[in-house]
Amino acid sequence: MRYSKLLGKTRKEAPKDEVSVNAKLLFRGGFIDKLMAGSYTLLHLGRRVEQKIEQIIREEMNETGAEEILMPLLHPKEIWSETGRWDKADKVMYKLKKGEKEYALSFTHEEIFLDLVRKHILTYRDLPVKGYHFSTKFRDELRAKSGILRGREFLMKDLYSVHTSSKDLDKYYEEVKKVYLKIFDRLGLKAIVTEADGGVFTDRVTHEFQVLSDVGEDEIIYCPGGDFSQNSEICKVKEGKQCDLGHGPLKKARAIEVGNIFSYGTDYSEKMNVVYTDNSGKKQHVWFGAYGIGVTRLIGVLVEVFHDEKGIVWPSQVAPYNCHLITINKQQLTKNKMDDVYNKLVKAGVEVLYDDREDVSVGQKFADADLIGIPVRLVVSEKTAGKVEWKNRIDSKTELLGIEEVVKRLKRSEAA
Ligand code: ATP
Ligand code: MG
Repeated sequence: MRYSKLLGKTRKEAPKDEVSVNAKLLFRGGFIDKLMAGSYTLLHLGRRVEQKIEQIIREEMNETGAEEILMPLLHPKEIWSETGRWDKADKVMYKLKKGEKEYALSFTHEEIFLDLVRKHILTYRDLPVKGYHFSTKFRDELRAKSGILRGREFLMKDLYSVHTSSKDLDKYYEEVKKVYLKIFDRLGLKAIVTEADGGVFTDRVTHEFQVLSDVGEDEIIYCPGGDFSQNSEICKVKEGKQCDLGHGPLKKARAIEVGNIFSYGTDYSEKMNVVYTDNSGKKQHVWFGAYGIGVTRLIGVLVEVFHDEKGIVWPSQVAPYNCHLITINKQQLTKNKMDDVYNKLVKAGVEVLYDDREDVSVGQKFADADLIGIPVRLVVSEKTAGKVEWKNRIDSKTELLGIEEVVKRLKRSEAA
């Protein structure tokens, strides 16, 4: 991608009302733009990061046997009335009226998925089913102040599963719990499984995935040995209490919720009358679970965790491109010559962001590369004499390499 052609370039200042580090860096780095409070455009670089996160999640969802679908965002009132959530979730839902008809914009999809299931599931042979999608959620958030961490409109991956028994649901729930930890680990994040209240979703205990961060809106009480963690909103135990398993005193810390899983039992299926025929011909209610990950929130969490005073430091698996190529043309080389390395990298299948701007100083290009945070910076100039200067974002050491070596190394890091 030629940087000169990109709509979203770096900016000197973030909007005054943006206070969080993630919003400031994402805005200044040209990853996001803001339409209004809680409402962001993912510019090209931001979208690339989002797609990388999405792909990691997708691979792990598919491993559990789930199928990818896409459900609508505009929902009829009637379906929300079946579970009572048209009223119960009134505060968070965006509602609209057109003529005599009332609608809600999706804030979650439990009711929509169960409606789908009752139209398609007939017998125990059809179960379990596991469906997920990546789609937009609308929530009227009062606290839309943390940049992309809390949008009024944001991307979520939500998975729903339907089973014939409590045992089968429990088994899948535990599998998803493990898979979620694997996803966060693949993203470079350490998530702590935390017991929490279910809010407008359920009266049962749920499990949140919390990443420690000073800017987190949640507070958790957790065992440093990893066998206990509760959201302090519901927690009965206090910080400092000795862990029962001898791991020392419990700690208290701020954290960001990146995922949440819910086991609903038959609560929803009873309200919506979602049944299957068991092997003795009897109608039974299905067992239901839901599992969410905040996809756009994760972009912000990654920036909160991975940045320094110069800008973002993306882990390579989610970086928008593998390398950031800068050409310095003091010699007035021909355009073709300047583009030579870029063309070779592209041809070799390397993802490259190419800063080919002619009206920008070298210092500015270097500062932009640090702000954007792609793991590898490559420089081609008169001084590099037919070779390429390689520098990792996280250190100051530079090396001169031949183009073949550059390709080999980038391919290696891509495969890792
Ligand atoms: P929170 O407590 O932060 O308001 P929630 O518990 O209401 O979140 P869930 O319904 O559990 O959120 O949604 C699943 C995931 O979606 C959350 O774990 C979080 O990562 C993400 N998420 C929730 N609300 C937002 C939001 N307003 N903006 C961005 N991501 C969000
Ligand atoms: Mg939650």
